[in-house]
Amino acid sequence: MSDVDSVLLEAVGLKKHFPIQRGFFRKTVGYVRAVDGVDLTIHEGETLGLVGESGSGKTTVGRLILRATDLTEGTIRFRRDGELVDLTRVPRSELKPYRRETSIIFQDPFSSLDPRMTVLDIVGEPLRIHGLADGDKLRERVRELLQLVGLRVQHMNRYPYAFSGGQRQRIGIARALALQPRLVVADEPVSALDVSIQAQVLNLLRSLQQRFGLAYLFISHDLAVVSHVSQRVAVMYLGGIVETAPVDALYDRPRHPYTEALLSAIPKSDPDEPRSRIILPGDIPNPANPPSGCRFHPRCRYAREVCRVERPALRDLTPGHQVACHLAEELELTGVKVQ
Ligand code: SF4
Repeated sequence: MSDVDSVLLEAVGLKKHFPIQRGFFRKTVGYVRAVDGVDLTIHEGETLGLVGESGSGKTTVGRLILRATDLTEGTIRFRRDGELVDLTRVPRSELKPYRRETSIIFQDPFSSLDPRMTVLDIVGEPLRIHGLADGDKLRERVRELLQLVGLRVQHMNRYPYAFSGGQRQRIGIARALALQPRLVVADEPVSALDVSIQAQVLNLLRSLQQRFGLAYLFISHDLAVVSHVSQRVAVMYLGGIVETAPVDALYDRPRHPYTEALLSAIPKSDPDEPRSRIILPGDIPNPANPPSGCRFHPRCRYAREVCRVERPALRDLTPGHQVACHLAEELELTGVKVQ
């Protein structure tokens, strides 16, 4: 199968601008450019890590891909029956087959499960909504799903409060797998868990991927976690992708100053490793009023005059490695050793 044939999802020029409304008549006075021109590709059975600080727009990208929120602009194509189908031309009312092939694992295993529902109701809900099972058949399918994620089937009549954080996240994963999706958006799936539990949940996600050929869009602010699960990584800053590459290339030799700064925050496993933390000045700017030129320039220690006036396009540097920086060829940036 060629690289093109293995594309499961292809997003081009994704934009999501939220209107800012003021006054009695709710007049639109501006837009929050949460996502402002994102291209990304996810292949069958791979994990694409999507990283960036809080406020970079990565969760909104996940929601756009799931069609949980409407696009302002752009196209999303998804492979069905061997063809890439443009989902933006499919009316909302006809998206049900697509919704069966995609699902989400949420960040917070405490708030994402309805405390009034039993595990049977929570995990079985997608099957009921799609009219795929009820009664004994539904119980049987929920039993299978609980076993898959390492939970005891005897607990299916319990409520979420009876479970630990790691167990609740397993319930969320079982629910996400109920419809046998091909693509799962995992939005910070381990960041609310204790470090000791994180590895178990990551291992579970990996083994499910191998067993079912799942593709993940793995959204996280934690580059150490992303390196353990991803084949490729895309780095987001203020609504746009600034670098994307296979995980080894991106971590060993980052080509964008923002990636370098994020990597520098990963704790060193080898005390002799010659790198120090890069502290970025200020906060991520307001997406309602982004800086001119390169959006990273007010915080970039390498910025030059051209960076203030011209927005760099995302371009191929080497095959599979894309970067949006005017100086990508000349900067010698410091990476980290991937474990
Ligand atoms: Fe820094 Fe300029 Fe590159 Fe932007 S284009 S990341 S400001 S060097």
